[in-house]
Amino acid sequence: MRWSVKIARVAGTEVRIHITFLLFLAWIGFSYYYVGGAAAAIPGVLFVLALFGCVLLHEFGHALAARAFGIPTPDITLLPIGGVARLQRMPDKPWQELIVAIAGPLVNVVIAVVLMLFLGQPAIIENLEQVEHPSVGMLTKLASVNVMLVLFNLIPAFPMDGGRVLRSLLAMVLPYGRATQIAAWIGQALAFVFGFIGLFGNPLLIFIALFIFLGAQQEAAMAQMKDLSLNLPVSEAMVTHLVRLPPEATLEDAVEALLRTSQHEFPVVDADDRILGVLTRDRLIAALKQRGSTVAVADVMQRDLPVVAADDPFDKAFQLMQESAFPALPVVDRFGRLRGLITPENIGELMMVNSLLPKGGRPSWRGSPS
Ligand SMILES: [Zn+2]
Repeated sequence: MRWSVKIARVAGTEVRIHITFLLFLAWIGFSYYYVGGAAAAIPGVLFVLALFGCVLLHEFGHALAARAFGIPTPDITLLPIGGVARLQRMPDKPWQELIVAIAGPLVNVVIAVVLMLFLGQPAIIENLEQVEHPSVGMLTKLASVNVMLVLFNLIPAFPMDGGRVLRSLLAMVLPYGRATQIAAWIGQALAFVFGFIGLFGNPLLIFIALFIFLGAQQEAAMAQMKDLSLNLPVSEAMVTHLVRLPPEATLEDAVEALLRTSQHEFPVVDADDRILGVLTRDRLIAALKQRGSTVAVADVMQRDLPVVAADDPFDKAFQLMQESAFPALPVVDRFGRLRGLITPENIGELMMVNSLLPKGGRPSWRGSPS
């Protein structure tokens, strides 16, 4: 994630803090200081830090559960709205997803229970204003926000953990895509309810509603892709009519190709058609600004990309694209010669074509000529 700084590395997972989180902390500190001086600012900031410590442990709950199924978590980032654990992929089996999803909130249950045992009383705060109240002790506050974290995360809507719990339960009896669709509908219906209540009461609910609505859409699209990819070889999904660039071509040549074709990603190949790298539109534009148009594409292109074979399952290609976060995946034969390219545009079109086909029909679609 951009604009984030690494603060630690725990068990193979980088812990990062987004710059907006630091601004948020500073803002909390200043606003408390403004009201009550250092005596208010220090506990205020400490409380926020403790709260985000709990959020971090929550994310590690997901990460550790995922690791039990052989899925690494390269990083966890703390944002003012919460934490994000970036799992390399989602588990395939519904019961595994259930465990990964539930492991996060479970951590907060444990924290809350331990704090309440220590305090010797149940600590449920009725409303958020009380969290601000100075007479309420730090540990009591912390116990009750952990309870709130559990309740919030278990709202059965994507991108909350509750949405994944719901989907995994549905996926035990339904196909994955269908289960996601239903879970996404339920989530979006909830988003409307929240948004509606928010209009008359708490504006924070409108924000949550929007968050849920967009999360549900994204999740539904991902699931559709996953369903589609199950029975498809890479060769059925790749673009084959491609403009290639030689390594010595200049950025000016690349711009000319960009304007002339509908391509956004250009494979760079040697004289034997072996793949050397890929030049994306974003890289091209950034390099044009900084270095001018006479630079060779070989100096600008992305090297060391993962590649797939034409008869690999599409699943593998999709997973590689997610892991590398690079928009184009070259398809090569066993000599490293370019056979095609997989791009988000052609995946999108493939999904569209597939949704129009009768059930059970197998899409056969090749990239459009430029
Ligand atoms: Zn979570």
